[in-house]
Amino acid sequence: MHEACGVFGVYSLQDDVARLTFFGLFALQHRGQESAGIATADGNKINVYTGMGRVSHVFSEESVSSLGGYIAIGHNRYSTAGSSRVANSQPIMVGKAPNFLAIAHNGNIINARHLYEELRGKGYTFNTTTDTEVIANLIISSTAPDWVNKVKYAMRRLQGAYSLVFLTENRLFAVRDPFGVRPLCLGTLNGGWVIASETCALDHIGADFVREVEPGEIISISEKGVESYQGQPSQPRMCIFEYIYFARPDSLIAGRLLHLTRQAMGAQLAREHPVDADLVMGVPDSATAAAIGYASESGIPLAEGLIKNRYVGRTFIEPDQRMRDLGVQMKFNPLPQLLDGKRLVVVDDSIVRGTTTPSVIKLLKKAGAKEVHMRICAPPLRYPCFLGVDMATRSELIAAQKSVEEIREFIGADSLGYMSLDGLVKSVALPRENFCLACFNGDYPVPVQLEMDKLEMENLALDQATAVKQP
Ligand code: SF4
Repeated sequence: MHEACGVFGVYSLQDDVARLTFFGLFALQHRGQESAGIATADGNKINVYTGMGRVSHVFSEESVSSLGGYIAIGHNRYSTAGSSRVANSQPIMVGKAPNFLAIAHNGNIINARHLYEELRGKGYTFNTTTDTEVIANLIISSTAPDWVNKVKYAMRRLQGAYSLVFLTENRLFAVRDPFGVRPLCLGTLNGGWVIASETCALDHIGADFVREVEPGEIISISEKGVESYQGQPSQPRMCIFEYIYFARPDSLIAGRLLHLTRQAMGAQLAREHPVDADLVMGVPDSATAAAIGYASESGIPLAEGLIKNRYVGRTFIEPDQRMRDLGVQMKFNPLPQLLDGKRLVVVDDSIVRGTTTPSVIKLLKKAGAKEVHMRICAPPLRYPCFLGVDMATRSELIAAQKSVEEIREFIGADSLGYMSLDGLVKSVALPRENFCLACFNGDYPVPVQLEMDKLEMENLALDQATAVKQP
């Protein structure tokens, strides 16, 4: 399961904004590794530099130094709408001076197809197959006389999830959809301002956290300072998977460190699914905090039974079980002397297709584990996500096809316990109505029949699109 991007922005007259953005993107690398990019503005013009791969591959000292300016935005991409190619990397620049901007987006626009057709009908042209370019063209298509009202117009039309940063030649904007599906926060550094998907990115550059960008809010940062506008009425439905898996454990959401929230999830799992066992371990790294919580609540000692090779990137679609086993073996190495003859509680964040969990269990049993009891921080995933998470179609989700007992048998575990939905909400310690829980219960915050046909969007041949004349 993959998240759909990290965004970052800086407005500072004191600092090298491109370099700060480069460091900010490093901190947000877990949110997307397909491409990275930075755009800067110096009061007159906008510069953009993007490329395929991780931040360290895309940028050199020379490319960062050449960007200049006093405003910057950055983006790490994992594609959920639009294919993986350099033309789709962000930030994307759209429009003609003085009506031009560069934009970076985390989320997924459900009615992008409809808006795309409408904008093409009005003569707007597209260079990419991303919903981000649809957002950008929608903003500049507004006849409103100022940027804030142009954004308000776009927010009235957009359906779905969007945490945005965009810059004009002399202003930085941050915008969050009315549901606040994806995180976005505001920080301060040296009298300047920083926007980031997660607070961990503020920590890494030495910025102080100020507050979260509110659902439905537009923040404008310029020579006048920070100004806040209500773009749309707020109806909070944040993605609960940010708490379970996506966001880094050292980030704060709603004022609480995610590491602690994940420990609470583990403790709740121990109460819901106790078992006689010798050791508790987490599948590294995402389930480590939850395993600590399980161990402390159950009194069963915690162990590190699997060592993760952190330098393995994406393992491509493995065609058969033998290759999938090999992929898991590339990622994890078990510790046989520690595991031999032991009854293990193995905590993991989620089971999506159920294709890698059997390989993990096989690996542990081969290393001598006598029993493997899987404990999962998320309830069974039965519905796909349309809000920016590349999960699977319904037919690929194992819990949409099999009962818990059938899944246990399929993955080869001695027992299997999923967190209850009530238990999950209790661990997060915020009102249930604040969250999107759609992948568990099918209750989407927006009508999903509007979901754009991603394949159709892919098929929009680039050669049909006339290049946007860049300013
Ligand atoms: S459907 Fe699931 S993954 Fe998607 S936004 Fe809602 S909670 Fe998050």
